[in-house]
Amino acid sequence: MDAIQLFVPTFRIEECLAEVRECLEKGWTGIGFKTVAFETAWKEYTGLPHAHFLNSATAGLHLAMRLLKQRHEWADGDEVITTPLTFVSTNHAILYENLNPVFADVDEYLCLDPDSIRERITDRTRAIVFVGLGGNTGRLQAVAQIAREFGLKLILDAAHMTGTRFHGRHVGHESDVAVFSFQAVKNLPTADSGMICFADPELDAEVRKWTWLGINKDTFTRTASRGAYKWYYDVEHVGFKYHGNSLMAGIGLVSLKYVDHDNAYRRQIASWYESQLANQPGIEIVPVAPGCECSRHLFQVLVSDRDEVMASLNTMLIYPGVHYRDNTLFRMFRAARLCPTAREASGRLMSLPMHLRLGYHDIQRVCHSLIEVVKQMSLFRRGNQVA
Ligand SMILES: *Cc1c(COP(=O)(O)O)cnc(C)c1O
Repeated sequence: MDAIQLFVPTFRIEECLAEVRECLEKGWTGIGFKTVAFETAWKEYTGLPHAHFLNSATAGLHLAMRLLKQRHEWADGDEVITTPLTFVSTNHAILYENLNPVFADVDEYLCLDPDSIRERITDRTRAIVFVGLGGNTGRLQAVAQIAREFGLKLILDAAHMTGTRFHGRHVGHESDVAVFSFQAVKNLPTADSGMICFADPELDAEVRKWTWLGINKDTFTRTASRGAYKWYYDVEHVGFKYHGNSLMAGIGLVSLKYVDHDNAYRRQIASWYESQLANQPGIEIVPVAPGCECSRHLFQVLVSDRDEVMASLNTMLIYPGVHYRDNTLFRMFRAARLCPTAREASGRLMSLPMHLRLGYHDIQRVCHSLIEVVKQMSLFRRGNQVA
């Protein structure tokens, strides 16, 4: 029997190689060329007005914090409301800028709960980071409304959200900045890269300097176009080496062509899971918010004795994952306030295999195995109670 992995990326290899070959033949693998083409294609795909291609979404989240902090003159220690159910990058980005992550609780979609956000707002709150877990929009619109009401900036960690639409429109329009990941196991695979999309054109112009060590490419271009003195570019401030390159952008251009088709298949997989796991005792399916056409980066369920269930599934060569452990369990966040719903979910949630190489029979095998393991586990628990 074959192993069923959680994630396996699919690349259109011949098309990707043609893009990469073009870069190699031209002798242009860095910023410019394909990165510009990919930014243009991405803006067209999402309808977002600005996009800057990066070497990762982690870099993008950092830049989102850095530029908003600078523009709006936030002080060190100012607060950013965030979720405990996310990948490490989200909250590291807040800390890179000496801002203070304040954890709010999640709702039934495992995304930030607007009511919990309201309770966490103080005089020092400056922003909210919303993570669309698994591609779900959760209550993003209500969160955007809170941000407007309290004059807070909204940062969308859209690492899972390539192709997620809300009432027909691609996500990202409701936030001040949206950051997408094109890491290999995300919905639009490259190897590693990301996109930062600011709503404000000035911040979009600004971020292009930050991703290339503070070098002002406008003065660079001006000088270069005079023919000589290319070394007379200006450096306006310290910056980072965060921009993406043409090899990744070339692969991204290919993946972008297929992402809607691929996401439709992910939703097909999700509907197979839903129909087979519906009303199964001991298995709770994490719902998708109404109006959300979900990228279906993940299909998540909640079970008791999650770790034992996963270990049993592993013996059957089925390898689910966990997205994520409650971040406040990490030693570095031990002083954080408890978020009860996130903490409870963290011990029970499980992501079932979700990728394009899975067929109907694989999903059937995962479901049968899961149903059987959960049933055995509950008989075992009952047995223990009697004894
Ligand atoms: C993958 C991921 C990131 C980081 O993306 P990279 O491109 O690998 O830096 C950030 N946030 C979430 C929720 C992610 O899943």
